Amino acid sequence: MTNESTGTNQSDTVELSDEQWRERLTKPQYNVLRRQATERPFSGEYVHMKEDGTYRCAGCGAELFNSETKFDSGSGWPSFYEPAVAQAVELRPDNSHGMVRTEVVCRSCGGHLGHVFDDGPQPTGQRYCINSLALDFDKK
Ligand code: FE
Repeated sequence: MTNESTGTNQSDTVELSDEQWRERLTKPQYNVLRRQATERPFSGEYVHMKEDGTYRCAGCGAELFNSETKFDSGSGWPSFYEPAVAQAVELRPDNSHGMVRTEVVCRSCGGHLGHVFDDGPQPTGQRYCINSLALDFDKK
């Protein structure tokens, strides 16, 4: 089924074996997307990116965030106040590492992207804290 407002196919799901993911991704990308790792703060290539464009899933290419919603959170990770398309991401409770957080996952491939917090700016008040390693940037 095609979403007419975005032209993206929301029912597209990418299902690969663990071995296929290891082949497709770099080791650091694999550790974040498939093993829920977190890149070191201020280490990612998109932390300070201010160009206009679209951020896609590094695992499957799904459109996830737009540069218009990116803001400087000071956290050391790319931060957005909302996804490009609400259905593009899935939110899951994450109680790992002794914290109560909400995990952000790519709906198309199940890849781990980061977490979302309630201390973001208006208009949503949300802060999607996303690993650079989980993203590919398409300059506008
Ligand atoms: Fe994906």
